[in-house]
Amino acid sequence: MKVSFACLVGAALNAGFALASGRSWQPAKPATAAVGKRSYVINTDRTEGDRMPWPNRKIRYCYENDEAQDALETILRAGLDIWRNVGLGSEFTMVQIDRDECREKRWDTLMIYWSGDNGGMATFAGLPREDSPYRETKNPEARARMILTTSTSMGMLDQQKNFAHEIGHAWGLYHEHQNPAFWSKPSIVNGRGGTVFGPENDGNWRCENLKDYEVKVHRGLIVQNPGKPAGDRVTGDLLCKDQVYASNSDFSAGDYLPMPKDVGSADTEGMDGESVDWGSIMIYPSGAGGRGDASPGNDQRLPILLDHNGDPIKISEGPTQRDIAAMHKLYGRSKSAVTKDLLQKAGGKVTEGFKKIYPKSQGNSGGSACL
Ligand SMILES: [Zn+2]
Repeated sequence: MKVSFACLVGAALNAGFALASGRSWQPAKPATAAVGKRSYVINTDRTEGDRMPWPNRKIRYCYENDEAQDALETILRAGLDIWRNVGLGSEFTMVQIDRDECREKRWDTLMIYWSGDNGGMATFAGLPREDSPYRETKNPEARARMILTTSTSMGMLDQQKNFAHEIGHAWGLYHEHQNPAFWSKPSIVNGRGGTVFGPENDGNWRCENLKDYEVKVHRGLIVQNPGKPAGDRVTGDLLCKDQVYASNSDFSAGDYLPMPKDVGSADTEGMDGESVDWGSIMIYPSGAGGRGDASPGNDQRLPILLDHNGDPIKISEGPTQRDIAAMHKLYGRSKSAVTKDLLQKAGGKVTEGFKKIYPKSQGNSGGSACL
């Protein structure tokens, strides 16, 4: 089984629920409604997906070795605090466990690796479901794991934010921008005709600016498709249009392009720029993965994705209320989220449960996630 550990996966919540008409809940500002619903998370439908959330809202983790622990633990806790500071309930916990126990129960634990000061990042989204075929594989990469770098020239150019992003993946959130609803068709495989990203939308997908574009993609060069029988080939051009091909080729476009419909689950049909949570901790800033130098406060990287107006996507300030709502939706309501619970009851629509907009489908493309 191919398990890809590329680096980006998205989440988009679609808000827009109407608040109750009761006076105390009279909304007032459209902004209030933004708290509601737009998310792109692991598909927990047993007939479609192979992932599940962490039981009891608890991630049990360990580090590969002491060196990794020394380099990462303090930043990891700070990354979790970023979530807490914007409203993630205290019942969401990350508990470090004994390394031996962690190895013993590897299907139900998160192993954290340090890729050094210049390595990559990647995180398995959620846990493989108990009855998932995943658990039959001998591939050690299929176990939940998180790879972290202490680099400040990648992703959001900030260790704590990068870690917060990876923590979001570990809980089960995918990249906001990989929601198929936002991508155009027919040129983009898995795209659903959205008006945000893709060649049909004013060239705001700059695949050619990816750091590994020159190496992986040369127009006219034929690239073997590792997933198909000999002779079935795919042109380099398709590597910028098909998430599965890109991932299977270890091309970073696999972290941007929309994922196959059964992999993730979104609870909105919103397909336009207004439906995207542009501030999400789970969306890539324009420079992420682009050619060019970057350091904190000085981002010279070429843009990869632009917003629907053609403007750069800024580095996230931290998880948004939509990110928090995605967590609560995936894990159920929590006692600490009283205020939001009331809002939800008032809103009505949001309490309808987790809707699947994706029909049953075949196949799966791994589904780790990275920055
Ligand atoms: Zn990511």
